[in-house]
Amino acid sequence: MAVSAGPLREIAIIGGGSAGWMTAAALSDALGPDCQITLVESDAIGTVGVGEATIPPIRNFNQRLGIDEATFVRETAGSYKLGIEFVDWARKGRSYFHPFGQYGAEFDKVPFYHYWMRESLAGRTSGPIDDLSMCWAMAKAGKFAHPQADRRKIQSTFDYAYHFDAGLYAAYLRKFAEARGVKRIEGRVCDVSRDAESGFIESVTLESGETVGAEFFIDCSGFRGLLIEGALETGYENWQRWLPCDRAIAVPCTKQDKITPYTRSTAKEAGWQWRIPLQHRTGNGYVHCSEFISEDDATQTLISSLDGEALAEPRTLRFVTGRRRKFWEKNCVAIGLSAGFMEPLESTSLHLIQYGILRLIALMPGREMSPLLTQEYNAQTTTEYERIRDFLILHYKATTRDDAELWRYCSSMQIPDSLQYKIDHFRTSGMLVADERELFANPSWIAVYLGQDIIPERAPAIAEMRQQVPVAERMKAIAQAMQDAVAEMPEHADFLNQHCRSPLAI
Ligand code: FAD
Repeated sequence: MAVSAGPLREIAIIGGGSAGWMTAAALSDALGPDCQITLVESDAIGTVGVGEATIPPIRNFNQRLGIDEATFVRETAGSYKLGIEFVDWARKGRSYFHPFGQYGAEFDKVPFYHYWMRESLAGRTSGPIDDLSMCWAMAKAGKFAHPQADRRKIQSTFDYAYHFDAGLYAAYLRKFAEARGVKRIEGRVCDVSRDAESGFIESVTLESGETVGAEFFIDCSGFRGLLIEGALETGYENWQRWLPCDRAIAVPCTKQDKITPYTRSTAKEAGWQWRIPLQHRTGNGYVHCSEFISEDDATQTLISSLDGEALAEPRTLRFVTGRRRKFWEKNCVAIGLSAGFMEPLESTSLHLIQYGILRLIALMPGREMSPLLTQEYNAQTTTEYERIRDFLILHYKATTRDDAELWRYCSSMQIPDSLQYKIDHFRTSGMLVADERELFANPSWIAVYLGQDIIPERAPAIAEMRQQVPVAERMKAIAQAMQDAVAEMPEHADFLNQHCRSPLAI
């Protein structure tokens, strides 16, 4: 096939879940009107139908599309999220909070955390580092307000994301994309045609016999990876030895009056259970390892620990943690579950979709499909997946639970060298090793290390050298400022009712 140079004129997106419609919305917004975008989806196949918790960068995605926050939260029956409460992960009866924001506030040249660690190891603190997290102070009080821009204020030290109904989000983005010229075709793809010489995808054929051709294809077909694996056979790197969970049972239940502004993750015998509060229901699921629990027992465990009445039959989802060996191959990029999956422990899947799209826009190819762009996209995406993978593995590895087979396996498993290196630094000298492109910044790592009992042998040395700084006094003032700020904030439920109440909220 002789390919002429020039900008792309036709892009086909295969799949209309969150990945498909986020891609369609962002591309229709970013590319000129001369490029026709077509999205093919099959109502008969449906979507994975979960994906309700996010991390703060999702706000940039919406802002980029010009989506107003209150409209978005209302349309998706969403709520605000200040972080994740991890229950029973280090050991039974122990909880900690992973906040979206910093600990304390900076008051010297040395980071706050260094001083806190020094004081804690010397026995001069009375509680966990959570006590100095603005997010946790708000979360446990059930309060929410937006952060303030004035960096001298304690209200500037936190960040936030959302919980939302992923189906409603996809529907909202569909309206957005169709209004910008995206053409939707309903139907099941049953065949993929490739050029005999180059191997490039030329078209997909639907059961109806209709053919959809394009110069560039985006595979958003979910776990099956219809194009990237089904047609192009790029291969899958399996990460189950580190992230062994391979099933989830999901069920929504009636909501509680007090909509908590955080996700809860509770470690269970063979995995962990999520709890995600929305305006019209609470999302729940038990992510587990099928080697250590039967589906019936997992379902029973989930149902018996709901804090409301089940609203639907429990659904089972099967997955294999890992990633495609190539995310972009020839004229096809995989975005969403077709690219890989790392379980929803830190709500990173929608984020990976967002960054896959932004990376694609930044490296947008012409019709000639430069292999250099493909190489760069694959390299960047691989790094991003591996960094997130290591952070997730830390949760499983750093446990002292020995009450169940899964936890005994995880605490003794070999982990990637890249993660071991970070843990070694923290354990020996309290140092946080990260590079600047790390998705999870220092406070996230501190939360999981300390929350799961990885305690440094000594505080970072520089904190010991600055004994003249009145640390105790500053910490007391910070704790007081947090308390005062939280007292003035509205209840999360009131905030939602006032600014973005969903018509579905009852
Ligand atoms: P899907 O939703 O599976 O969509 C695939 C699309 O492809 C569908 O439209 C389907 O009809 C179409 N399709 C497939 N085959 C064909 C065909 N032959 N012809 C035509 N169309 C076809 N992410 C988060 O960020 N936060 C979370 O809290 C979170 N929780 C999760 C919990 C679980 C248990 C799981 C499994 C995932 C979770 N995720 C979460 C991930 C999140 O759900 C997905 O990343 C997101 O929904 C994107 O899915 P997708 O669009 O890639 O795939």
